[in-house]
Amino acid sequence: MSETTEVPKPIPEPDDESRPFWEGTLEGKLLLMKCSDCGEFRIPSRQHCDNCLSDNYTWAESSGRGVVRSLGVMHQKYHPAFEPEIPYTLAMVELEEGPRMPTNIVELNGREVQVGMPVEVTWERHEDVAVPKFRPR
Ligand SMILES: [Zn+2]
Repeated sequence: MSETTEVPKPIPEPDDESRPFWEGTLEGKLLLMKCSDCGEFRIPSRQHCDNCLSDNYTWAESSGRGVVRSLGVMHQKYHPAFEPEIPYTLAMVELEEGPRMPTNIVELNGREVQVGMPVEVTWERHEDVAVPKFRPR
């Protein structure tokens, strides 16, 4: 059905808290929130540090490298915009800095993705944001 390909993907809409993160994506930077009190990293937008509950933070750039910690391969159409990508892989990637990020693994058929696989960030560009996804490295 050709009309289903006309449906755009739902994309993130930056708010005040997450805007620096999304601006970073347009420059190819994967930014993390770094706790100013204990140094723990977290993915945006989490108000408090999971380690010490501080709400003080600065933005710090991630290496963009990580490892697949869990995954699921989607074979069903849950949204028409994603139909051309079926089967696609949802994964939890543990970044080198520590936090785990929900994402997609691209450039591989879902059956080839494995837990423990080293991955690196790549970008799905849209007009106002770039969505971080990961590929094998
Ligand atoms: Zn902390």
